[in-house]
Amino acid sequence: MSEKIERVKCLIIGSGPAGYTAAIYAARANMNPVLYQGMQPGGQLTTTNEVENFPGYPDGVTGPEMMMQLQKQAERFEADIRDGWVTKVDFSGDLHKVWVNDTKEIHCDTVIISTGASAKYLGLESEQKYLSLGGGVSACAVCDGFFYRNQEVVIVGAGDSACEEAHYLSHLCSKVTMLVRRDEFRASKIMAERVMKTENIEILFNTETEEVLGDGQVVSGVRVFNNKTNEKFEIPATGFFVAIGHKPNTDIFKDYLDLDETGYIINAVPGTSKTNVEGVFVSGDAADNVYRQAITAAGTGCMAALDAERYLAGKDVSFEVSTSSYN
Ligand code: NDP
Repeated sequence: MSEKIERVKCLIIGSGPAGYTAAIYAARANMNPVLYQGMQPGGQLTTTNEVENFPGYPDGVTGPEMMMQLQKQAERFEADIRDGWVTKVDFSGDLHKVWVNDTKEIHCDTVIISTGASAKYLGLESEQKYLSLGGGVSACAVCDGFFYRNQEVVIVGAGDSACEEAHYLSHLCSKVTMLVRRDEFRASKIMAERVMKTENIEILFNTETEEVLGDGQVVSGVRVFNNKTNEKFEIPATGFFVAIGHKPNTDIFKDYLDLDETGYIINAVPGTSKTNVEGVFVSGDAADNVYRQAITAAGTGCMAALDAERYLAGKDVSFEVSTSSYN
C-alpha cells in the first residue's frame, strides 16, 4: 500500500542557518512549517570548528552547537523538524509536489529551498583527515582566517574566490602561499593583479598539492610538486585553505527553476527570495555565490519565510488547519 500523501503549507528543504531561520519565522507566523534536514543535518557549519563571527556569541560557538541551538529554537515554536532527503520535486502545478527518500509524497502550498552549497575539496586523504579533525584545513577564509593570525598558510585555487580569500588572509597571516595548478589565473585581471601586488602573497604556478602534512592532529605544512618539472618540495604552514569553487545543491530543481551557469538559483525579483515559480522561495547559499556566510544565510531564511507568509496570505490559505493527510 502506498503511503498517504501529506499536505503542508510550508515545506523547508535543508537545515543550515537559512533553513532553521526560515523555520523559526514560519512557525511563529502559524505556518506549521515542516523542515527536512537532508543528508548533513546542520549543513556546512557542522564541518566548521569555531564560529566567532555570528553576532550574539561573544565567546564564539562551535558550528554543530550553533546548529543544535537553531534547531531547538525552531522546535520551541513547534516547527516539525524531520530526518529525510528530498529526492524529487514537481513544481509544474498549483500545489508543489515534493518526494522524500523517493517514496513519501508531500503537496505544499509553499516551498522554501535552503539546500546550500558544498565547497569542493581536492579529495586527498590527508586533506580530508585534517578537515574532519578541525586541524587546519578550511574552505572559508572569512570563517577561519582569524585562527591563523601571524602564521603562514597555503591556499589552493586561481579563481576569483581564491584571489579574494588570499587577499583577505594576507591581512591576517604573516605569509600566504598560493598554489595555482596552471601557468595562469582563472580570476578576473583586477583580482589577479591585486594578489600579485601583495607583498606577503607568494604565487607558485604549475604547482599542485601532493599531501597535507601534520602530526596527526594539526597541519604543519604541505608537500607540493611542480607539474612541469616534477620537482617536489615542502611548504611550512599551519593552515591549508581550499578555494577551488562551490557546488550549489540544486540539481533536483533544474527542470523547474532558473539557475545560472554554475547552478545557483536565480532570484526572480532581486532583493526578495522569490524564484521564477510562484510559491517557491530560496534562501542561503543555494542562491548566493558571493557572500556565503551563516549570517547572510540566516537573513535570507527570514526573508523567505516572510515572502512565503505574504504569498499564503494573498492566496487566502487558511492558517488554522495544521498539516493534514489525504489519499
Ligand atoms: P572558479 O570555478 O571560478 O575557479 C576555481 C579555481 O579552482 C580555478 O582556478 C581552478 O583551476 C581551480 N581548481 C579547480 N580544481 C582544482 C584542483 N583539483 N586543484 C587545484 N586547483 C583547482 O570558482 P570560484 O569559486 O573562484 O568562483 C566562482 C564564481 O564566483 C566565478 O564566476 C567568480 O567570478 C565568482 N566570484 C566573484 C567574486 C567577486 O566578484 N568578488 C568573488 C568570488 C567568486 P583552473 O583555472 O586550472 O581550472
